[in-house]
Amino acid sequence: MSKRVLITGGAGFLGSHLCDRMIEAGNEVICLDNYFTGRRRNVSHLLDHPNFELVRHDVVEPIRLEVDRIYNLACPASPVHYQYDSISTMKTSVMGALNMLGLARRTKARVLQASTSEVYGDPLVHPQREDYWGHVNPIGIRSCYDEGKRCAETLFMDYHRQHGVEVRLMRIFNTYGPRMNAEDGRVVSNFIVQALRGEAITIYGDGSQTRSFCYCDDNIEGMIRLMEGEHLGPINIGNPNEFTMLELAEEVIDLTGSASKIEHLPLPQDDPKQRQPDISLAKEALDWEPKMQLREGLKKTISYFEEDLRRA
Ligand code: NAD
Ligand code: UDP
Repeated sequence: MSKRVLITGGAGFLGSHLCDRMIEAGNEVICLDNYFTGRRRNVSHLLDHPNFELVRHDVVEPIRLEVDRIYNLACPASPVHYQYDSISTMKTSVMGALNMLGLARRTKARVLQASTSEVYGDPLVHPQREDYWGHVNPIGIRSCYDEGKRCAETLFMDYHRQHGVEVRLMRIFNTYGPRMNAEDGRVVSNFIVQALRGEAITIYGDGSQTRSFCYCDDNIEGMIRLMEGEHLGPINIGNPNEFTMLELAEEVIDLTGSASKIEHLPLPQDDPKQRQPDISLAKEALDWEPKMQLREGLKKTISYFEEDLRRA
């Protein structure tokens, strides 16, 4: 049945893919964004669709709408952007969560929070399961994001316990794909854009730190299954195949055929050394697992950036 779906951060990378899926499924979509890291261009193909509405709004401010589902994705996700105005980042996570939970309570909507593997911090347990409480620095340069997202999780569970709000918590591990911003600063887009421009590939530290990269379509499938399923979460959604940043750089150089050289820059403070999701719960509760292998996903993302850089 068609639903009224609010997607905060809907003009961003993941939000815009979710808008596509929600429109394809016949829903009415309100895409809300303040364009801090998102762009109208990500959803410009939907602007004339009768079921699509784009609203410029900051989730830090309350909003009155009538909806059935709320996907709360509004928050800068790249360390470069979330550290640019760290106080704003914390406000977005905490006040954004409060405003969306208030809206969900009033309208009896179900609300999903885009949480993150960053709630595990620089993890001492590997791979990370949902019952691991994490190893997070509360006063470092990543804390505005990590602690903001942790606080949002707390608020979600408290609104559920105290007011019976139907909540869903999704812990997203590094996700990449078309419509990332070329200037986003995250590793996959950085490496691809640098390789395509023939610039040095910037590896922070010695490149032995690991991440596990999930393709956007897999992520969105997991997100929708979580929203429409019975399990509240938190549930890890990510691809368990783990790579070092050096391996990622080599793969990107190979696929682009670039002559770019690798340049090592200092490792930022509190940069997690390793990260890999344990996705047993997602498999069991959502019958979900990622399908796209890194090499194939990188090819699609490279094609997108080739076109994107030509347009710029
Ligand atoms: P993104 O930066 O492309 O998208 C975030 C969107 O939120 C942007 O469109 C931005 O303009 C908007 N936004 C930011 N602050 C806002 C505010 N105060 N009010 C309204 N809109 C605001 O990043 P993304 O990768 O699409 O991430 C989407 C969500 O998923 C974020 O909440 C992020 O923390 C979470 N997440 C993403 C990843 C990933 O690897 N992509 C990993 C973990 C968690
Ligand atoms: N990184 C890198 N070069 C870059 C950007 C990032 O080596 O140009 C590293 C970064 O230090 C981290 C990993 O890549 O170890 C992933 O960084 P990203 O910002 O994508 O996400 P994170 O998982 O750290 O939030």
